[in-house]
Amino acid sequence: MAEHESLEFGKADFVLLDSVSLEEFMANLKLRFEKGRIYTYIGEVVVSVNPYRAMNIYGRDTIEQYKGRELYERPPHLFAIADAAYKAMKRRNKDTCIVISGESGAGKTEASKYIMQYIAAITNPGQRAEVERVKNMLLKSNCVLEAFGNAKTNRNDNSSRFGKYMDINFDFKGDPIGGHINNYLLEKVGGTGGAVRSPMVKGGSESLLRSLHVSKDPTAYSYIKVGGQVKSSINDGADFKAVADAMKVIGFTPDEIQTVYKVLATILHLGNLTFGVDGDTTLIENSKVVAVIGVLLATKEENVGKALLYRTVATGRDVIDKQHTTQEASYGRDALAKAMYERMFCWIVGRINDVIEVKNYDAKVHGKNTVIGVLDIYGFEIFQNNSFEQFCINYCNEKLQQLFIQLVLRQEQEEYQREGIPWKHIDYFNNQIIVDLVELQHKGIFSVLDEACMTVGKVTDEVFLQGLNSKLAKHAHYTSRKLSPTDKSLEFDRDFRIRHYAGDVVYSVVGFIDKNKDTLFQDFKRLLYNSSNPVLKMMWPEGKLSITEVTKRPLTAATLFKNSMIALVENLACKEPYYVRCIKPNDVKSPLLFEYERCRHQVEYLGLLENVRVRRAGFANRQEYPRFLQRYKMISEFTWPNHDLPSDKEAVKRLVQGCGFEHDVAYGKTKVFVRTPRTLFCLEEQRDEM
Ligand code: ATP
Ligand code: MG
Repeated sequence: MAEHESLEFGKADFVLLDSVSLEEFMANLKLRFEKGRIYTYIGEVVVSVNPYRAMNIYGRDTIEQYKGRELYERPPHLFAIADAAYKAMKRRNKDTCIVISGESGAGKTEASKYIMQYIAAITNPGQRAEVERVKNMLLKSNCVLEAFGNAKTNRNDNSSRFGKYMDINFDFKGDPIGGHINNYLLEKVGGTGGAVRSPMVKGGSESLLRSLHVSKDPTAYSYIKVGGQVKSSINDGADFKAVADAMKVIGFTPDEIQTVYKVLATILHLGNLTFGVDGDTTLIENSKVVAVIGVLLATKEENVGKALLYRTVATGRDVIDKQHTTQEASYGRDALAKAMYERMFCWIVGRINDVIEVKNYDAKVHGKNTVIGVLDIYGFEIFQNNSFEQFCINYCNEKLQQLFIQLVLRQEQEEYQREGIPWKHIDYFNNQIIVDLVELQHKGIFSVLDEACMTVGKVTDEVFLQGLNSKLAKHAHYTSRKLSPTDKSLEFDRDFRIRHYAGDVVYSVVGFIDKNKDTLFQDFKRLLYNSSNPVLKMMWPEGKLSITEVTKRPLTAATLFKNSMIALVENLACKEPYYVRCIKPNDVKSPLLFEYERCRHQVEYLGLLENVRVRRAGFANRQEYPRFLQRYKMISEFTWPNHDLPSDKEAVKRLVQGCGFEHDVAYGKTKVFVRTPRTLFCLEEQRDEM
């Protein structure tokens, strides 16, 4: 019996469950996890449970087993999905995308790496040097992005603090010829990038550290010490070297790499700056540090001091320097550190794109250039305390859910029409109403937030909350403490609640206004733009404007995020999608523990059960008649070795009748549609027995 049908390991496809209930779903998921079967399908969706141990299922031999195969021919695996996406691209000239979602620590980034590895392994059989170079670049760029974009958190030792979408471009032969990376919302709060700054301290050479005036002791830096603990990844020294090498290979110049170090060092030094007062004057208590920052940023020490302590403001015709309070100065310092890191990260992504982007590809000469996109993006987040970041992340998941609904259902519908098969309506919850609640112009939460940010006078989070309450009081998916005073889940006056498709989330408005505004004082932008280090200058083009020229407000964080999500979804919508849904089995990184409640919750908010229902209502599989015959003709005397029926369609009908599957099959114009995967598995089995 084929392994994927063996009951000992549970059902390889949730569509095969005897009945679709949460209990059955969970029992199957648990059984498979305990038997070391971490992947299970829902049709073409892979559900993955993080094994938290090295699995011997990603080697060369496994790759060979999946190469060119159909999904149901082998046990569920990421490689099967990667291969399906690759085949669609190569055989049918389709752009495809693989959307990987799940919560922090569920295994998204690992999955994206295995998919990339698989694609790298099965392409370029001719070993063309240029293609090898591109593949190497793509893999190396991953290493650099992880180094700068990941951090150790209490949920994941190697947590991605940004969403990543990577396009891989292929030529007509199906070989990678380039790529493009988009990143989304690098987390702004906390000690972003601790993962790199600490390795630099531990892994950087003596002479490098000396040149940066950085001490070898990580505890000397307050930004590295978060909550009294030194943030670091497991193998700091080796990591640092690998990143430096990868940057060189990608083509960062020595000056660029040096500038990256200098920015990292500046951030460390900034973290140690403290402010005090002398009479009416705010001052920097450790002025030596200012001198060091001046050297690192290639600018005058007094300019650094001034930008940290004063703010230039235009009042009518006059331009005056307004002194910060110590509180404002500390706030400015932290904003500068975060902004420098974020800007540098975007610049790094831009530089990588310069190098990996496809150039000089002439479609007329070479045929269509096709794409596989891989999206590794934070899943739904519900914490004890949810703020602006969770709000953005959850909005992103609403958008992706909407896309899923549109694509899966639309795709099915279109194909049925094309093939002349009657369409059966499927009942599902359409979350468009929640997407609108967040993003609609003038009425949506983002608009209310932007409006609150533009209010003249003192803008507070409370003003924003009042705006929400007055605009959204009647919305079925919105409520707040003020609107539902007796609701126990709304503990504080500052709370509001959104009924997401995945469940209720209570958000605290505290910090929304600040996080939404571009909080970096213009003085800092000018400071960095006026650096005599050309690389640094390039990162801060808007610093060019003098105070009287700055008229336009920069776009808010919410607007930027919304625009990038809309663009992302538009981009994905024109591709054929494949999905990987990652589940985190426990919070203690244990390979043995399947925490039932924890998993059940994820299954619910990932909408997996609904997914199974949709899948069962439609047809699990469809194949063109000749291909179907090619694979199964040996199981029927009418078709083996060849048939004498008038068409392949007739022959398939005959074969199916012989096996007794007619009730489970529909005949389209060019394809046979199989309703349940069970039928396919049976066919496979009979084929194996021949
Ligand atoms: P985040 O949203 O925080 O970035 P993530 O979903 O990207 O989280 P990963 O970094 O991919 O999570 O995985 C977390 C850890 O789980 C990995 O560092 C690894 O130890 C383990 N892990 C994940 N997938 C696998 C796998 N397939 N095999 C073995 N270990 C895995
Ligand atoms: Mg990740």
